[in-house]
Amino acid sequence: MALKFGFVYDERMLAHECLYDCSMEESPERCRLIYERLNQDGLLKDAVRIPARPATNEEITIGHPLGLVRQLESLKTNEDCENYCKTKDYLWLQPSSLSAARLALGSCMDLVKANVEKKIGNGFAIIRPPGHHSYGSQPQGYCIFSNVAIVAKHTVDVLGINKLMIVDFDIHAANGTYETVKDDHRILLVSSHMYNCGTSWPFQKVFDYDSNDNNIFIPFNCSMNTENDLLAAYNHVIMPIAKEFQPETILVSAGFDSGYYDAMLENGQAIKAPGYGYIVKMLEDLCPNRVLAFLEGGYFWKNYTECAAMMVRGLKGMSLPKIEPTARVNGSMCEVIWKALYHHSKRWKFAKERLEQLQNQQEIMGLQRYSPPAFKLYLGHGFREHLEFVRDNERLKTRQWLPRLTKEQEEIASAKIQNYIEVLSVHFLISKYEFVDEPIELNVDDELKQMVWDEKAKADCFLRNAKTCLPLYDGFVNYLQSKDGTFECFDKKLLNE
Ligand SMILES: [Zn+2]
Repeated sequence: MALKFGFVYDERMLAHECLYDCSMEESPERCRLIYERLNQDGLLKDAVRIPARPATNEEITIGHPLGLVRQLESLKTNEDCENYCKTKDYLWLQPSSLSAARLALGSCMDLVKANVEKKIGNGFAIIRPPGHHSYGSQPQGYCIFSNVAIVAKHTVDVLGINKLMIVDFDIHAANGTYETVKDDHRILLVSSHMYNCGTSWPFQKVFDYDSNDNNIFIPFNCSMNTENDLLAAYNHVIMPIAKEFQPETILVSAGFDSGYYDAMLENGQAIKAPGYGYIVKMLEDLCPNRVLAFLEGGYFWKNYTECAAMMVRGLKGMSLPKIEPTARVNGSMCEVIWKALYHHSKRWKFAKERLEQLQNQQEIMGLQRYSPPAFKLYLGHGFREHLEFVRDNERLKTRQWLPRLTKEQEEIASAKIQNYIEVLSVHFLISKYEFVDEPIELNVDDELKQMVWDEKAKADCFLRNAKTCLPLYDGFVNYLQSKDGTFECFDKKLLNE
């Protein structure tokens, strides 16, 4: 008997809403619109709804000290909440946030339990607040409890799963998940994230490609990586290692802010919705009926509803829209993949095999074998130190970190997304995808050819990285040199007060 799809959705989590700043992108509508879209597409018709319930203190303390719960309990007014957030990176709270956070975590726990007990197959927890940035006594980045990391720990400790993989495709580094699970070798953490040579939050070197713990990090050093670029990282690095690791359960931190034209427009990433469907499909092939997704980021409705719908189709083993693979991976991603593969081949046999295939191709084409650069480019020192200084002095900005998209920008972003939906459609203008069972025609030879590391790739890499990293670096330097400048959560005026 085929196992049914499972999901969690509970309107009580919508009560968590920033009451002192309406520019916050992490808002209740995110869950509501995803739920509505999945219903509209009929994707929840035959699914099992797992009831949401609050996590207990015992469950929360798998990842956090009890003192954190006590602190959150003591925040009775909006003012208390905002004051507390002055010492946290990118966090807003309101008095009922704790109840929502308990529900989010409790729901995740029960979704996985239902899966392990074979009451459901794959599933999706449509929850908020998200969790992957929070750890220890540091709730941050819109996250209160480290949902996925806590569930992972509990699953290997209590539910009889020996090896578990976490896949985080949110645009932001899974720093909270990393801090919570890094010493646990039963858990393999995969995170693809904006890094930009260290100029993107959390500005830490550890999120570069060469993690020595049980992680595979795919840092993005340029903007607008597409689904083809990310899928190449899966084909060459992530999946070979995952196959060798042989996880029994896979938890997906599903952040759709890496999607095409999400909140940061051209400064963000460009993964089109079907890409998320393919990723979970690959994971499902590796671990049938054992792939569970949990909502993390994603801020532009037209993007995240589309992505969530395609991901759920992938999780349910349904057909996906056909996409055309590109002949080459962009230079920046190509370099990251080579570097990551080179690094991980020292430890993982399957990564070594893939590296050899690629090196042989280089030789056949009369090109030099790849060797990693002698030094690592890291531009985030000042960023991290200054953030800590500002935070320790309780001078972090608590409002308007990033302006929300203007009406005009929203229209542009909607049109861009609508455009690719139509391009992927057979019948133009009625915006229906062409759903096919074998959506990408890419054999191993084509995959290898995407990775040629030649002069052209190197130049493309340099130009793309510079285009993204330099404005970020300059923005920070300008802020430091100014009297009243701002840079996301930093505000010179506030600091000088
Ligand atoms: Zn994110």
